[in-house]
Amino acid sequence: MLVREVRVGDAVFGGSKIVLIAGPCSVENEEMVIETARTVVKCGAKMLRGGSWKPRTSPYSFQGLGLEALKILRKAGNEFNIPVVTEVMSAKQIEIASEYVDMLQVGARNMHNFTLLSEIGRSGMPVLLKRGFMATVEEWLLAAEYILKEGNESIVLCERGIRTFETWTRSTLDIAAVPLARNSLGLPVIVDPCHAAGRRDLILPLSLAALGAGADGLMIEVHPDPDKALSDGGQSLSLEEFESYSQKIGAAPQSPCRLKKKNRR
Ligand code: PEP
Ligand code: MN
Repeated sequence: MLVREVRVGDAVFGGSKIVLIAGPCSVENEEMVIETARTVVKCGAKMLRGGSWKPRTSPYSFQGLGLEALKILRKAGNEFNIPVVTEVMSAKQIEIASEYVDMLQVGARNMHNFTLLSEIGRSGMPVLLKRGFMATVEEWLLAAEYILKEGNESIVLCERGIRTFETWTRSTLDIAAVPLARNSLGLPVIVDPCHAAGRRDLILPLSLAALGAGADGLMIEVHPDPDKALSDGGQSLSLEEFESYSQKIGAAPQSPCRLKKKNRR
């Protein structure tokens, strides 16, 4: 099936090139977002990600900076001329975030939130729809249909792993879901190997597998100092690791992206 192109600024999902989305799990402060954005853009990323409201398992974990995070993302997006995406979990958050970001993300935990899906559909904003970790491919596609039903066709699907009996990874990346989903609705499908693996050593091999399966892009968590990250540090690449990663997946621009000394730690 022909996959439709979904354009978000200069990022074209479902076109001839893969789209690399990169950025921190959570927006922690302006400095770390700008530093990360500078590096990932240099290395070929076409969209910046960053969590503003975080769906944390524990209510006592860092919940995100909210509006402040949105302002930081917008600033970074403008400075580096790159579209930005953040996750929303409620109708109110859709309204607020739409003023600042270029694409809204529905996270795994909210894939079954049908009211949210319909609201996002009505917002007309481009959507990154992650697969719920307990959802079948069919349930995931039906979630996309909730958005399509409201007349919003700017949807990019994201496979991020499902829960299985395996404990050595956070989730299990379902590679078969990539061509299955892609060929069913004709929407672009990207892969998030970070949340699937939960560990940074598997990010490259899972990315290569995703590209082999026909993924239209990849979403990668990057942090200037992963050991100190407020969320998901263990599955985030450092700036130096991202530089090498982008070359290995063929996303880096022609001249190898070399980070300036000051960006190295
Ligand atoms: C995320 O992308 O930061 C995230 C929370 O992912 P998921 O919803 O797939 O767990
Ligand atoms: Mn994360």
